[in-house]
Amino acid sequence: MAKIFYDSDTDLSLLKGKKVGVIGFGSQGHAHALNLHDSGVEVAVGLYPGSKSWSAVQASGLKVGTVDDVSRDSDIIMILVPDQVQKQVYDDHIAPYLTPGKTLMFAHGFNIHFGRIQAPEGVDVSMIAPKGPGHLVRRVYTEGGGVPGLVAIHQDASETALQTALAYGKGIGAARSGILMTTFLEETETDLFGEQAILCGGLTQMILNAFETLIEAGYQPESAYFETFHEVKLIVDLMYEGGMAKMRDSISDTAEYGDYTRGPRVSPPSQKAEMKKILEEIQSGQFAREWILENQAGQPHFRALRRRGAEHMIEQVGGEVRKMMGWLNPGKK
Ligand code: NAD
Ligand code: MG
Repeated sequence: MAKIFYDSDTDLSLLKGKKVGVIGFGSQGHAHALNLHDSGVEVAVGLYPGSKSWSAVQASGLKVGTVDDVSRDSDIIMILVPDQVQKQVYDDHIAPYLTPGKTLMFAHGFNIHFGRIQAPEGVDVSMIAPKGPGHLVRRVYTEGGGVPGLVAIHQDASETALQTALAYGKGIGAARSGILMTTFLEETETDLFGEQAILCGGLTQMILNAFETLIEAGYQPESAYFETFHEVKLIVDLMYEGGMAKMRDSISDTAEYGDYTRGPRVSPPSQKAEMKKILEEIQSGQFAREWILENQAGQPHFRALRRRGAEHMIEQVGGEVRKMMGWLNPGKK
């Protein structure tokens, strides 16, 4: 069984007297910084000069400085800028201040696992990766809970890297739900695979295929949206609460029969074969090389894909349909 750490296995007092620098104030950055601050940890946020987030950090009562200043002053530095810019930010603004005894932390293993960032000896390198988007990491914490997380140690110069990382995990609330022990390799490869094969890539493409099938057959776009997009969350919520069994208990027998007999046709063995290829591209470093090159070229393909995604009819239809849903628009009738 995997090792899981909870609040009682972790000691927040290990961060007493230590300064934590959170680099970046985006999805993860704002959540980590605010949660740590509310847990009583001394936090400063590092931004590039001129960043839009400067006033937002100040308004939330946290210290803010340039990445250089915060890296110089911090004992623990958590890098929460996008993965594709981490190497440059690290090389220019963090590495010069990594003196022995400091801790360098990540929320995803990409740059360490693929060898983009190599920290000096004498520095601890660890990961606390919440298994949820940053806005949830913040919201669940303020409600008294925590989004579960992963912990991994790449370099243990102090021989206390794990306890320090777990204290950080407790500070952001993750230990309230559990922090699972993993490695940088396992976190990086499974995280990339999950987002490509199912969570993001797999799911969005399946929704689009189903939506387009109904539209091309002449059904109303609003009906197609409800059936192929809106209801996905309702079904996933049931599976999340009680497994596939709870979902199948709650749907009609007709739906359950269709599930068993048609599902395997939509996702035939060829789909799994393709997933294996995608996993191999991750394991071999081919995907990482492709993404690094795309960034070096200024993201032309990525930007085109992003534009095409935003222009799809399902987004316009969804925007209109969601206006009708009072519970998605608090304060509006
Ligand atoms: P983000 O894109 O939301 O935020 C990035 C922040 O970095 C912003 O504040 C931006 O202004 C700043 N930034 C961008 N370029 C910069 C530069 N050159 N110098 C300094 N600051 C710069 O990023 P994110 O999604 O929070 O991802 C941060 C890390 O967390 C990544 O390693 C990611 O893999 C990991 N992670 C993200 C999520 C998630 O839900 N978004 C979940 C788990 C792990
Ligand atoms: Mg992920």
